[in-house]
Amino acid sequence: MYTKATSVEEAATASGEFRAGGTDLQERLRHHAGTSPLIDIHGIAGLDEITFYDGGADIGALCRIQDVGDSSRMQNDYPALTLPCQIIATPQIRHMGTMGGVLAQRTRCHYYRSDELDCPKKGHTDTCPSREGFHHFGVCFDFGPCVYPHPSSIACALLTYPGTEIEVTNRGRISVEALYGDGSDVARDNTLDAGQMITQIHLPEAVAGERAAYFRQMSRTWAEWPLVEVVARLVLDGETIEAANIGIGGVANIPFRLTGVENALIGKPATQANLEAAANRAIEKANPLPETAYKLPMVTAGVLQALESAVSNTSGGKLSL
Ligand SMILES: Cc1cc2nc3c(=O)[nH]c(=O)nc-3n(C[C@H](O)[C@H](O)[C@H](O)COP(=O)(O)OP(=O)(O)OC[C@H]3O[C@@H](n4cnc5c(N)ncnc54)[C@H](O)[C@@H]3O)c2cc1C
Ligand code: SF4
Repeated sequence: MYTKATSVEEAATASGEFRAGGTDLQERLRHHAGTSPLIDIHGIAGLDEITFYDGGADIGALCRIQDVGDSSRMQNDYPALTLPCQIIATPQIRHMGTMGGVLAQRTRCHYYRSDELDCPKKGHTDTCPSREGFHHFGVCFDFGPCVYPHPSSIACALLTYPGTEIEVTNRGRISVEALYGDGSDVARDNTLDAGQMITQIHLPEAVAGERAAYFRQMSRTWAEWPLVEVVARLVLDGETIEAANIGIGGVANIPFRLTGVENALIGKPATQANLEAAANRAIEKANPLPETAYKLPMVTAGVLQALESAVSNTSGGKLSL
């Protein structure tokens, strides 16, 4: 069964799984890892706009990822968000994929995506088979029973804007952290229940002159989820780092911030020695699986690279390839 919703109210009261751009959902359905019926939300009017106002900006859930990345005002005001929006996935996916879909996309774990393998997220079993099985691409910060990294690069970026709120039907405004929870529920990739549709992303007030960088390490150049990805957002007063927000992905079953690194930077001059000392704190809470310790030096190096790039980036959030 298929419902084509024409309003938020209709979507929020229909029963089924939302389909926005369909770039994640359709592939899952082919491998019997999706649910039906479907609620097609991509035609709902008014959710594909970016609105700027005094004190913040709103991004509709149906805005395309590339449109957010290409907005010159967004590049100026929220560079840590626009940088990943210009490079993740492929140009085709970024032009189809929506901001709601990129946040709510499901895990890329091959146990989950395969027709032939079991996974608790498909209801086949209670325990994660990957933990004792193949987990080469898995987490090195082991927060919970699922050991596959959360796939959303854009969630990492939004975490670097504290105060960001996600508006959800039948639930209200929640923080990005609340959207993902603590990773303890093996069956889920986010905390959205049935009928809870993301409608808007509310960004906090822009900070003039912030410096940002996005750095990803992956097994091929394009069209792949990164093994490790880092979003760095810094505010400098002269040489001194006044504010630091560092989001990390590819390493845990939820996106999170490296608060130890942030604390090591705040109030310090942005010297190479201070950046290196802070980056070295990136893995202080890591607890890799038997096959994932190889990611630890990638985390430290990735954080350092992102910090160095952010410090020297005075041209905002337009990606130069
Ligand atoms: C080759 C490839 C590489 C990729 N690399 C990356 C990468 O590096 N980083 C990254 O972040 N992503 C990556 N992606 C994933 C891509 O970003 C997602 O497929 C896309 O963002 C999903 O958006 P969509 O609108 O198509 O979602 P859909 O496929 O329509 O939906 C995805 C999921 O989100 C739910 N959903 C959609 N909209 C809403 C909403 N408004 N409220 C609540 N739930 C909703 C759906 O029910 C579904 O479960 C990659 C994809 C491909 C194919
Ligand atoms: S619980 Fe997570 S890691 Fe385990 S099989 Fe499922 S998706 Fe993969």
